[in-house]
Amino acid sequence: MQYRRLGKSGLQVSALSLGTWLTFGKQIPDEVAEQLADTAYRAGVNFFDSAEIYARGQAEVVLGNILQKKGWDRTSYVVSSKLFFGLGGDLRPTQKGLSRKHIVEGCHGALRRLQVDYLDLLFCHRPDKQTPIEETVWAMHSLVMQGKVLYWGTSEWSAAEVLEACLVAEKHHLVGPTMEQPQYNLFERNKMEGEYLPLFERYGIGTTIWSPLASGLLTGKYNDADPKDTRLHIAGLEWLRDATLREERLNAVKALKTVADELGTSLPKLAIAWCLKNPHVSTVILGASKVHQLEETLGALDVVPQLTGEVTNRIEEIVGTKPVLPEY
Ligand code: NDP
Repeated sequence: MQYRRLGKSGLQVSALSLGTWLTFGKQIPDEVAEQLADTAYRAGVNFFDSAEIYARGQAEVVLGNILQKKGWDRTSYVVSSKLFFGLGGDLRPTQKGLSRKHIVEGCHGALRRLQVDYLDLLFCHRPDKQTPIEETVWAMHSLVMQGKVLYWGTSEWSAAEVLEACLVAEKHHLVGPTMEQPQYNLFERNKMEGEYLPLFERYGIGTTIWSPLASGLLTGKYNDADPKDTRLHIAGLEWLRDATLREERLNAVKALKTVADELGTSLPKLAIAWCLKNPHVSTVILGASKVHQLEETLGALDVVPQLTGEVTNRIEEIVGTKPVLPEY
């Protein structure tokens, strides 16, 4: 395993980490979740990502039980939660968002479900237009001062919103955001390769990137088939299916497969290696519903050296998604 600093912080996270969205507490039995966590930990993964909304709190419960059962030294791993959506369902306004109330109560809920004394990372899962950013920064700072959270960050905020949080923290000498959690894969690149560049340069923000395989599309398994045992067939996720299985993307994935074949590797490994090549990526969060999937993607670091300029140029030609940056 390779370890990378989470932005300018001193925290070293494994370049590959394990997430729990849609899988833990939902799509897969708890025994499989345990096997996944165990496979990851044994491979050197030290970061497990979760959120209050995942399976309405159940993902954290399952992860917490695993951490408890395994008895891994608490100092050897990093565990996260994310707040904003609450536990889902019919919520009252105080049960979601980024107010001081929900941040404090949401943090306590995550600590209980995960059965830990502190969260290494706590994310604001989305921006909250109903709460001043200053209130959120103060609330996060307080949790850090209380030792309940070690580092806090954002997820899918605009660069302007992260910047405002950084400026508020600077102004009041508070602990500002350390990391952002954006989507990043061969099809979704604008934030990581455009919008956020000033945040990386000026504030040393780290990133824990999600959906590196675009929900499985970049494995190539949808190229000529429609396998039924995947997240795209989960009832209620029709929106994800529609967003994922787009014709132009499928065509690109088919062409990428030939690149993977020529390199003698697999498409999932190639797609994840491509994410790892970006130096602004602190960790790529892997998702898996089966152990063999994770065993494969954990091998992606070996493919990074194969991504020469020539290979990445070919990939660019195929996907055509490189953001066009403004010229100054
Ligand atoms: P991916 O895009 O990599 O999708 C993972 C899924 O792809 C797996 O669950 C599996 O789904 C399929 N897959 C993975 N590997 C293989 C393989 N080798 N062969 C075939 N199929 C494979 O990542 P996720 O979307 O799961 O995101 C990763 C993590 O990021 C999440 O668990 C979560 O922690 C975090 N996240 C954060 C978000 C945020 O807003 N901050 C949003 C979304 C995710 P299947 O078997 O069902 O096809």
